Amino acid sequence: MNRSLQVTLVWENGSGSALLQPIWDFVRSKEALVKSQFYPVIFSFTVYMFFCLPYLALDVLCHYIPALKKYQVQPKSRPTLAMVLQCLAHTVYSHLVYILPLTVAYVYWRPINLQFEAPELHRFLLDIIACLLLFDFQYFAWHLLHHKVPWLYKTFHKMHHKYTATFVLATQYSSAWEMLSLGFFANVSPILLGCHPMTEMAVFVIHIYLSVEDHCGYDLPWSTHRLIPFGICGGPSHHDLHHEKFVSNYAPYFTHWDKLFNTLAQKKAKKP
Ligand SMILES: [Zn+2]
Ligand SMILES: [Zn+2]
Repeated sequence: MNRSLQVTLVWENGSGSALLQPIWDFVRSKEALVKSQFYPVIFSFTVYMFFCLPYLALDVLCHYIPALKKYQVQPKSRPTLAMVLQCLAHTVYSHLVYILPLTVAYVYWRPINLQFEAPELHRFLLDIIACLLLFDFQYFAWHLLHHKVPWLYKTFHKMHHKYTATFVLATQYSSAWEMLSLGFFANVSPILLGCHPMTEMAVFVIHIYLSVEDHCGYDLPWSTHRLIPFGICGGPSHHDLHHEKFVSNYAPYFTHWDKLFNTLAQKKAKKP
């Protein structure tokens, strides 16, 4: 049967896997790379830099195009070259010194299963939402604890608060304990929920995108809190306010935990 007709028929029968199958088949065709012990660290670093580069370009463009300044969350505070290089060096260091050995061990312990079938579309989407909600809760609890206990703050979390205005490469400017805790939460959620390996990969990419967006320093028309209604998501201004004031907005993506704990604060609205 013609492949496009097959896709249409399966879609009409209510299965989403036909939509995802070509993407999953492409991933499976790169089996040697995907199953390599070095794949997780290369994937993590490459995806992170891919999402960071447009914001780094925006930081440069803002010097030359004044119209872009209205999107900056803190227009008076922009990153210097020294700050960018320090954060970049730290990201390279952390990927080489502890993320690489840990991910190599992880691949030995839990090799990726490139099963033939892609996940069903509805299951894929529900699992992604469930993983993000679970991670959001785990990080909220971790984050609140590391602000409320002075020893934990000073020892493990203070490093991430070096910059009181967010800029994109500050995303991963964190202590080893913080990076490993976040990596653990991000990895354990799909395992607990029994997600398909393709869902695990998608969730990982979304985590990197959302963490980069949290720190990008720009409130753009396509920021998540503008695309998703009812104030469900915090967005870049929300997390920037956490870096600026330290005392609110502990959840990374959503706002419900901060609402429940009365720790939600809003920046003065800026129209894009
Ligand atoms: Zn914090
Ligand atoms: Zn942060």
